Amino acid sequence: FPTDLTELVRNHIREIPDFPSPGILFRDITPLLADGPAFTALIDGLADAYRGSVDAVAGLESRGFILAAPLAAALGVGMITVRKSGRLPGPVIGVDYALEYGDARMELRPETIADGQRVLIVDDVLATGGTGAAAVELVQRAGGQVTGLAMLLELADLGGRGRLEGHRVDSVLVY
Ligand code: AMP
Repeated sequence: FPTDLTELVRNHIREIPDFPSPGILFRDITPLLADGPAFTALIDGLADAYRGSVDAVAGLESRGFILAAPLAAALGVGMITVRKSGRLPGPVIGVDYALEYGDARMELRPETIADGQRVLIVDDVLATGGTGAAAVELVQRAGGQVTGLAMLLELADLGGRGRLEGHRVDSVLVY
């Protein structure tokens, strides 16, 4: 991504210590979303990077949705919702995975992805990579072809990229 896009993002992220639990430095994207020109520039920048190379954009609940939906519309492709457990009416496929504290599960309606469709997975933060890896597995089980993962922020120390080995991971800003 262009350097000015990275700087724009850096200047609109708030860091909140000990949220939602002690020891976590939460990266808050709400200032970026609330700034119209900044948010528009971000979506335009992402669209420029992926135009013509993807058939669908898969957003990860919840904050991934906020980025994936306008990106999909800008690219003229469909948006796929990868959701937390119990939110999607069936039939769904699901993947359970371990988080730093406790377990999680992501689900997908497999018929929302056509066979062989090129799918870009989008989320706000790549941390341990558990959520991204679950999304990769879901998209592949549904018959999609994962072209890559686009993350707004990457927390490199947590090693998420390693968990997504073999896949292209693009992060606008790496900490
Ligand atoms: P992970 O599965 O560990 O890669 O975690 C990714 C998910 O947790 C993403 O959907 C993020 O929204 C959220 N997340 C993890 N760590 C942070 C953080 N420090 N600040 C904001 N969101 C985070």
